[in-house]
Amino acid sequence: IDEGEKFRIEYWELEEAKLRRRPKPKPLATRVALVTGGASGIGLATARRLVAEGACVVVADRDADRARAVAEELGAGAYRAADVAVAAAVDVTDSAAVDAALAEACLAFGGVDLVVNNAGLSISKPLLETTDADWDIQHDVMARGSFLVSRAAARVLVAQAMGGDIIYIASKNGVFAGPNNVAYGAAKADQAHQVRLLAAELGGHRIRVNGINPDGVVRGSGIFSGGWGAQRAAVYGVEESELGSFYAQRTLLKQEVLPEHVAAAVFALTGGDLTHTTGLHIPVDAGVAAAFLR
Ligand code: NAD
Repeated sequence: IDEGEKFRIEYWELEEAKLRRRPKPKPLATRVALVTGGASGIGLATARRLVAEGACVVVADRDADRARAVAEELGAGAYRAADVAVAAAVDVTDSAAVDAALAEACLAFGGVDLVVNNAGLSISKPLLETTDADWDIQHDVMARGSFLVSRAAARVLVAQAMGGDIIYIASKNGVFAGPNNVAYGAAKADQAHQVRLLAAELGGHRIRVNGINPDGVVRGSGIFSGGWGAQRAAVYGVEESELGSFYAQRTLLKQEVLPEHVAAAVFALTGGDLTHTTGLHIPVDAGVAAAFLR
């Protein structure tokens, strides 16, 4: 073989060796996760699932008391509860508090591997009744809040040079239109595009960014007790107490979606095997989006 061919072989052998050296994602049992809004609903179910899979979890929530109670629940049975879960009292709209929560996670567990942007709230109003304040809070918490959390997380993940995952709990409402949803739906659409933008920017660091679009998680969700449930029930013309079964009946699977089902999607995306998926949104809605059902 000539010199050129020899050079080409050596070059590709070197490239292959480099590829082999790229570490595989760490198994969940060795990972540290920070879950925003981890004190209730989907965030709580996610924190429980991650701990059950062996991860250490930072329960980051603006409700400090509930976050502390959840961290204690998650750590119950451990020699030291704080070896498994800690609470961080953080409002995700506060940039300094978000940075402090990431620093706290690093201090408690030596680093962070996985961040779940889950904190959120929901205001359901027709356009003409939606106030400036409604618009601002929806965008502050979900669009700006998840940007702040992702940026703080990316600083840590890039510095660690071990890859990582950022998950957005977005919504079907950020993709499809429905009534009385302008502020919430637009903020969720912002999150949906953050997923794609950050996946593009962070992919070279082996940081995967994916979204989950739940729909109709009534039981266990605080969002439905804040007036959203009554408003949705009025839109659909059903009693609030019947909303869960109403949602179930309109799905393709005729099954209610529970916070645990969303947590299962977080596990599927971060648990180890789904290593080559980024910039994607997974619906967890028992088929509502697939069939364009409201
Ligand atoms: P939830 O009300 O049960 O939980 C939300 C949590 O976020 C609470 O613990 C709350 O204290 C916390 N939080 C709110 N604002 C915060 C802030 N500024 N800083 C820190 N924490 C804050 O609601 P959920 O149903 O579990 O919703 C979780 C996420 O899932 C939200 O982003 C929501 O939009 C999304 N989602 C829910 C559904 C559903 O059907 N429940 C559907 C689609 C998307």
